[in-house]
Amino acid sequence: MEKHHKFSIWYVLLGFWVVLIVQTYLASLLAIQTIPYSQFLSLLKEGKITEVAISENIITGKMLSEGPGNREKSFRTVRVDHELSELLKEHNVTFTGEVESTFMRDLLSWLLPLLIFVGVWYYLVQRIQGGRPGFMTFGKTKARIYMENELNVTFDDVAGVDEAKEELQEIIEFLKTPNKFTALGGKIPKGILLVGPPGTGKTLLAKAVAGESGVPFFSISGSEFVEMFVGVGAARVRDLFEQAKQKAPCIIFIDELDALGKARGVGVTGGHDEREQTLNQLLVEMDGFDPKVGIIILAATNRPEILDPALLRPGRFDRHILVDRPDKKGREDILRVHLKNVKIDDTVDIETLADMTPGMVGADLANLVNEAALLAARRNKQAVSMAEFEEAVERILAGLEKKNRLINPREREIVAYHEMGHALVALALPGTDPVHKISIIPRGVAALGYTIQLPTEDRYLMTKTELLNKIASLLGGRAAEEIIFGDISTGAHNDLARATDIARSMVKEYGMSSSLGQIYLSREKTNIFLDIGFPQPTGEYSEATAQAIDDEVKKIITEQYERALNLLREQEPILREGARLLLEKEKLEREEIVALIEKSRKEKEGEASA
Ligand code: ADP
Ligand code: MG
Ligand code: ZN
Repeated sequence: MEKHHKFSIWYVLLGFWVVLIVQTYLASLLAIQTIPYSQFLSLLKEGKITEVAISENIITGKMLSEGPGNREKSFRTVRVDHELSELLKEHNVTFTGEVESTFMRDLLSWLLPLLIFVGVWYYLVQRIQGGRPGFMTFGKTKARIYMENELNVTFDDVAGVDEAKEELQEIIEFLKTPNKFTALGGKIPKGILLVGPPGTGKTLLAKAVAGESGVPFFSISGSEFVEMFVGVGAARVRDLFEQAKQKAPCIIFIDELDALGKARGVGVTGGHDEREQTLNQLLVEMDGFDPKVGIIILAATNRPEILDPALLRPGRFDRHILVDRPDKKGREDILRVHLKNVKIDDTVDIETLADMTPGMVGADLANLVNEAALLAARRNKQAVSMAEFEEAVERILAGLEKKNRLINPREREIVAYHEMGHALVALALPGTDPVHKISIIPRGVAALGYTIQLPTEDRYLMTKTELLNKIASLLGGRAAEEIIFGDISTGAHNDLARATDIARSMVKEYGMSSSLGQIYLSREKTNIFLDIGFPQPTGEYSEATAQAIDDEVKKIITEQYERALNLLREQEPILREGARLLLEKEKLEREEIVALIEKSRKEKEGEASA
């Protein structure tokens, strides 16, 4: 196809030259003799001119030729203005008129634009095709096929994400022996979404799954689907699945799914037709294939909240695997992976390095090791020592601070006490969500917490006591800050919002307030045709009642905050000890916190009996 393409331009040029040559040839055939104007004048006087046609500059006509037979010949001459010709004749000068040739100018004036046009067109076509040959391959997928032997990433190369690896293990088993699973009628998820902040190793994990299971791996980025021409993205999706079906069992990996799967109909421009079409095609293909053929679709995103809900429905990307920022232990493991290829001396202490790098993700750590190695090379060292690592950490931290990640030691301390406050209040009160673990590993603003945000208060019948306890535990974070620092931070705003919501529901919906009594005050009168985003006045209760609701909500919150404060004051030593541990390890499991509480209770009993 490429060849044909180039030739077509040469054809144009060739054709052009042919026309030129033919023209010249024809002109010579007609054999019009061009004569000087002076000769024309003398021929005229001699009576040898038989007919003329006069135009502005040129005179053509017939003349009697010199030779025998008096044959007529065509001639052509260019006239010279009269005065001048008189003068020239007086002095016996032979003179000829000449018409400026505009031929080259005319030629350039249309050839040049044509060439530019053809050039631009050619360039665009090249660009659209991304340098791939062929005009007809527009719809072909750009997915690269990595075969197992080219892709030598294994789980050993990915560290610090043990939970994600465990979950993916099942997928690997399935890809290795699909028959074992399908024979029993088991259902393997079609679509798995890797969710986590940038640089935590999602892409790496996907490759590792392919590497471990030894199946073909189709990798494409969400943005690659979205092309300039409408319909191309959809064709790509179709083609990708076509290819994958032939290679099954295999993995399709769609990186940066958010580029493609943004919720439809959002955005200022009122949606993007091409992206929608592509997304629809993806949904169709995902629904269309039989899960037994053994195609697993992995996708990665760091912004799950903007994905189209249709993508997350059962049968599509219904399984989510969180690839979170590594804790201290995880960072140690990741550093070990990357230090394997670097010569280090024995001043390097990996644990200390992990201590120095809170908030860093795998990509940052890989970068850190690389920077340190470069520094050592610049200093002509035989091996990288701790000094280089320390310098590299400083550099990278300076870069990260700009990106607003939580790494400031003071902030970490506040967060540690805050989280410990939540945990201790929750553990002391029944009916609150069980504390699984607490962590002070910074997270992206809204990127995560996604998987755990199922509102428990809607799923259970909850008693008034339980709701109050829940409010207290939500306020425990701020209470801890107040006890320890005598000051409060903005970190609790989400807690406050949730606590207030619960309190308001208690008063307005559940009839749980003593002063307002058993009454339901929450009916929203919204007109669906006029729902333009702000709450309509409900008009269901009076101003006075509204005031009473506010007072009641405030009372509940204040009381529970006091309760949380008291609970935490009683346990202040545990609070301090727990926060210290948390700062050290960044993550505490439920058992560790319970053990702390137990220990302190025993100590107290010991004191009392002594
Ligand atoms: P993501 O796709 O989550 O943004 P990548 O998988 O592209 O992150 O990670 C970029 C690089 O960072 C990887 O190639 C690897 O060198 C390093 N890296 C990231 N996470 C890890 C990890 N958990 N273990 C080892 N290396 C990692
Ligand atoms: Mg990636
Ligand atoms: Zn909180």
